[in-house]
Amino acid sequence: MIVSIVLFTSDLRVHDHPPLRAALDGATAVVPLFVRDRAVDAAGFAAPNRLAFLADCLADLDTNLRARGGRLIVRSGDLVEEVCRVVAEADADEVHMSAGYSSHAQRREDRLRHALEERGVRLLVHGGVGSAVAPGVVTPASSDHFAVFTPFFRHWSQQRLREALAAPRAVRVPDGVASEALSARSDVADVSPGLARGGESLGREGFTAWLRAGVSVYDEHHDDLPGDATSRLSPHLHFGTLSAVELLHRLRKKQGPGPAAFVRQLAWRDFYQQVLAARPDASCSDYRSQQDVWRGTQEAQEDIAAWREGRTGYPVIDAAMRQLRHEGWMHNRGRLLTASFLTKTLYVDWRIGAQHFLSLLVDGDIANNQLNWQWMAGTGTDTRPNRVFNPLAQAKRHDPDGVYTRRWVTELEGLKGPAVHEPWKLPQLERAAYRYPDPIIDLADGLNRFRRAREGARKQAA
Ligand code: FAD
Repeated sequence: MIVSIVLFTSDLRVHDHPPLRAALDGATAVVPLFVRDRAVDAAGFAAPNRLAFLADCLADLDTNLRARGGRLIVRSGDLVEEVCRVVAEADADEVHMSAGYSSHAQRREDRLRHALEERGVRLLVHGGVGSAVAPGVVTPASSDHFAVFTPFFRHWSQQRLREALAAPRAVRVPDGVASEALSARSDVADVSPGLARGGESLGREGFTAWLRAGVSVYDEHHDDLPGDATSRLSPHLHFGTLSAVELLHRLRKKQGPGPAAFVRQLAWRDFYQQVLAARPDASCSDYRSQQDVWRGTQEAQEDIAAWREGRTGYPVIDAAMRQLRHEGWMHNRGRLLTASFLTKTLYVDWRIGAQHFLSLLVDGDIANNQLNWQWMAGTGTDTRPNRVFNPLAQAKRHDPDGVYTRRWVTELEGLKGPAVHEPWKLPQLERAAYRYPDPIIDLADGLNRFRRAREGARKQAA
C-alpha cells in the first residue's frame, strides 16, 4: 500500500487542490493533515479573528472530506516534528504540500524537506496553488521580479492558466492515525463581534452570488464606502478556501468592465506575492527607503492610540478604524485613507500601522498587508511615493451623504448629509453636545511636516 500525506496550509479546500489530486493519483491511501504550527503563534501571527475563521475553515474541510469517505487529521506543535510523527504512524511514502512564499514558509519548507529526506520520504511542493500565477513565472528581463504593477499586469494577463481541478469523489484515509479534536470558533476569545464565518462551502456560495450580482458593476462601485460593493472574498483567498485559478476561469466567462476590474484586483495579490518571494525582508524593511526618520513612538504615542481606537476627530478615519475593530475587516478605500493618515498626516512608521491591522484583519496577510502599507507609506512599489489622501476630500467623494461614516461613528448620527464629515464647523455649544473629539491634528500642519521630513531626508541622502 502506498500512503501519501497532504499537508494543508493556506489552501483549506477540496476543489482545485493540486497537492490533494497528486496524492490521490499516486497513492492507495491519503492522510489529509493540518498542523497548528507553534511557530505561527510564537511569531504573534495567530490573531483571534484569524483563529476563529480558521476554526470554521477546518470544520468545513473535515465535513467535505468526510462526505468523500475521509476525514481531517489535526495536530498542533512544531510543524516539522508533527509531520514526521504522522509519517511514522501512517508509514507514509511521500508528503505533498503547496508552496509558500514568505520567509517563514520558505524556512519551514527547507526544514521539512531535510527532516523527511533523513527518513527517506519525498516532499513534493506544488506551486501556483495560492496564487493564479506563481511567483517567478513572469519576470522582467533584468530582474527576478516586477517592481511596478502595470508591466507585471500586462505579462500576467497573457499567462495561460492551468486547468482548475474538480473536487475528488473519494478520499481513503488509512486507519490508526489519531487526530486532536477540532477547535470551534467559540473556543477563541476576543473575536470581533461582526466577524464573517469561514469555510470553503461559504466561500463558494459567496463567489457564486458575487458572479450573479455584484461583479458586473464592480468597476463603478468598488470605491463606494456605504455601498460596500466589493466581493468580501479576501479572507477566503487568504485561507485558500477559494482558488484564484478557479475564480479566474469562472470570471473569464463573463464580459464587461466589472469582471475586468475585478480580475485586475486579483492580479494585485499575485503582484505582491512575487515581490515578497523575491524580497522576503520587505515584510519588515522598507522596499525602497525614503530615508524616513519617523516620529518616535513615545512622541506619537497619543496620536497612535487615537488612530487605533477611532477617535482622531476625522469622522471617516474613525469610521474605518471602528469597522476594522468590529468586523475584523475594512473596506479597501478605508484601508488607504487610514494608512495615509497614519504614515503621511501623523508621520508614524508604517510598521506600527501594519502590525495593528494584522492584529485584527481576518484577511491579514504578510504580502498584501505589509506591501500595501509600504505602497501607502511611499516606501514600497508606488511610483508616486509622496502621494497623500486628504481624508476630507476623500470622504466627500466616496461617502458623499455620510452614510458610511454615521454607520460607525454613531455619536454623530444626528448630523445629516455631508455635514458629518466636518463636525468642527458646528457652533461650539452644538459641537460639545455630540461628545466627539476635536481633530488631533490640522491637516495642513501634518502635510507640511511630512513634506519637510521627506525633503530633509532627500537632501541628506544627496
Ligand atoms: P475586492 O475589491 O472584492 O477584491 C478582490 C480580491 O482582490 C481581494 O479579496 C484581494 O484578494 C485582492 N485585492 C484587492 N485589492 C488588493 C490590493 N490592493 N492588494 C492585494 N490584493 C488585493 N488585502 C488582504 O487580502 N490582506 C491584507 O492584509 C490587506 N491589507 C491591506 C492593508 C492596506 C493598508 C491596504 C491599503 C490594503 C490591504 N489589502 C489587504 C488589500 C485590500 O484592501 C483587500 O484585499 C480588500 O479590501 C479585501 O476586500 P474584498 O475581498 O471585498 O476586495
